[in-house]
Amino acid sequence: MNSFNELPLSSPILQAVETTGYTRPTPIQVQAIPPLLQGRDLLGCAQTGTGKTAAFALPILHRLSASPEPRGRRAIRALILTPTRELAAQIVESFRVYGRNLSLKAMAVYGGVGRRPQELKARAGVDILVATPGRLLDLMGTGHVNLKHLEVFVLDEADRMLDMGFIHDVKRIIKELPAKRQTLFFSATMPKAVAQLAGGLLTDPVRIEVAPQATPVERISQSVVFVDQARKDFLLEKMLEDSRFERVLIFTRTKHRADRVAKKLSRLEIAVDAIHGNKAQNARTKALQGFRDGETRVLVATDIAARGIDVNNITHVINYELPNEPESYVHRIGRTARAGKDGAAISFCSGDERDYLKDIEKMIGFPIKVERSHSCHSAEAERGMVNGQAVGTAAKKSQPVVRRPQPQAGKVSPQNRRRRQGQQAGR
Ligand code: AMP
Repeated sequence: MNSFNELPLSSPILQAVETTGYTRPTPIQVQAIPPLLQGRDLLGCAQTGTGKTAAFALPILHRLSASPEPRGRRAIRALILTPTRELAAQIVESFRVYGRNLSLKAMAVYGGVGRRPQELKARAGVDILVATPGRLLDLMGTGHVNLKHLEVFVLDEADRMLDMGFIHDVKRIIKELPAKRQTLFFSATMPKAVAQLAGGLLTDPVRIEVAPQATPVERISQSVVFVDQARKDFLLEKMLEDSRFERVLIFTRTKHRADRVAKKLSRLEIAVDAIHGNKAQNARTKALQGFRDGETRVLVATDIAARGIDVNNITHVINYELPNEPESYVHRIGRTARAGKDGAAISFCSGDERDYLKDIEKMIGFPIKVERSHSCHSAEAERGMVNGQAVGTAAKKSQPVVRRPQPQAGKVSPQNRRRRQGQQAGR
């Protein structure tokens, strides 16, 4: 399909899309928009970066603007449930952009910011509500949000909802929704628990899979550098001396490490900020805005905070630490090479992260190119060793198999006796 005009969307929506500068619909938009306009349910296996938001936002805007508004105060007719505040803010912004020529109202509710303004705004009437689960339940509990006129329900990033422990909240919300509704279900990956949840929610859905499950975008050049933990800061500094590292997103596993890396870089007068769950919502929004505007060259983030960050022109993603969940690797590197651009993802791997790398390579289905032409290359890290000691599977492999005599039935071996005594003492 060469143009949005081939889709049966109303002209105010097509005009709004045109002003965004998109020339043609992305594959998920081509596949999802027509059946959604017919009112079908949808099961989408898609990552962010594929144009997923417009794929559901455009048909929702079309549907709501075409049907007569309920009399009196506006009622919530579309609900988009998403796991993070950043995503909620981004999605509501997309609704506003694509719906700029319509008279529909969209708002986002999420935690970490004052509740009162959200209560007042919701009370005044809204057509489209984008929400994170916890705050939505709060507002439903106080009666500020009522979902009885709901027509369309979107569950976004379902796999991440489950990972973040939101499943019970999500189920409680679903119970409150009218049974007669259109349901859209998106997830980057489809593990069993997610597929089960989808099965209970959808009726004869259209199934769309735009990229194979959790497969990184081809345009990202991926590499791994083996480096000892203590040399990572030095390696990072060296890399950032290269001006081609224009807009860089760095990932760490912990909030503490994110702050530490950001602090070190700011001492080198690099424009840097950090974003993670311990930061107040306005600080997170400000950090993201600075990065988006280009004032901040480097943003250091943890996985949850970065989920769904939609910032164009990120030239490099650096995994300062590898994620312990292989799926997170795919999400992380997908922050670059967005909207048709190229990008690079460089992973620092120390000896104790060798197993994480193995899991990632197993999941993506190919080995990541090893970059050895840098001064910090550590052959030891590559062999899965730290300070001369093998760790993880490398340690298991290097250990000779010692067959211990089996304790006789009823008898407690000396090791087990010691262990039991230790456990009792620790109680
Ligand atoms: P999403 O997958 O919804 O997070 O979208 C990823 C990025 O693609 C966002 O920056 C969108 O603005 C952009 N985008 C969405 N649809 C199109 C399109 N048809 N052409 C070009 N860019 C798009």
